[in-house]
Amino acid sequence: CLRRAQDAVARHARLVPDFPSPGIAFKDLTPVLADPDGFDAVIDALASACTGAELVAGVDARGFLLGGAVARQLGVGVIAVRKGGKLPPPVIGVDYDLEYGTARLEIPAEGIPLAGRRVVVIDDVLATGGTAVAAARLLTQAGATVDAIAVVMELQGLPGRRFIADGVGPAVRVHA
Ligand code: AMP
Repeated sequence: CLRRAQDAVARHARLVPDFPSPGIAFKDLTPVLADPDGFDAVIDALASACTGAELVAGVDARGFLLGGAVARQLGVGVIAVRKGGKLPPPVIGVDYDLEYGTARLEIPAEGIPLAGRRVVVIDDVLATGGTAVAAARLLTQAGATVDAIAVVMELQGLPGRRFIADGVGPAVRVHA
């Protein structure tokens, strides 16, 4: 099923040069998800990397599209890991560094039992790994056990996978 997802990405992904800033080659995976076979292939591949998960965490914003569908396929629930300032209080958050400036991710501090639950983090693209590590740390802080970080595409030439190993420990598997 990995092969089918790879074919779909090769066929439908769009490369946008110099977005959102000069020198960045933006990988737009939204056309993959807009294609019924592409969406099915990508969700199948992600779900097969997430067996054993008790909860799926989708990272703002394209991770929401993926996370919801993966959760449904696995028969578990889904949580949105949101950018700062979007959720009603109380929240718990984590600040992390981007290439330029900082960013913040938040999850609800109440209402969703996380302690002791096996969670997978889902996003579309792994670049530096900063976002995925921040999401994993946040969920860990809330008491969850982060089993895996699963993404559709890992950018070559960036230290994403290495950073995850250093940042959240080797117990977290990376699937791309
Ligand atoms: P990072 O924290 O550097 O791993 O960046 C990951 C987050 O930013 C993901 O949520 C991606 O959607 C987005 N992102 C970063 N770089 C790219 C890129 N070159 N193409 C598409 N999305 C990207």
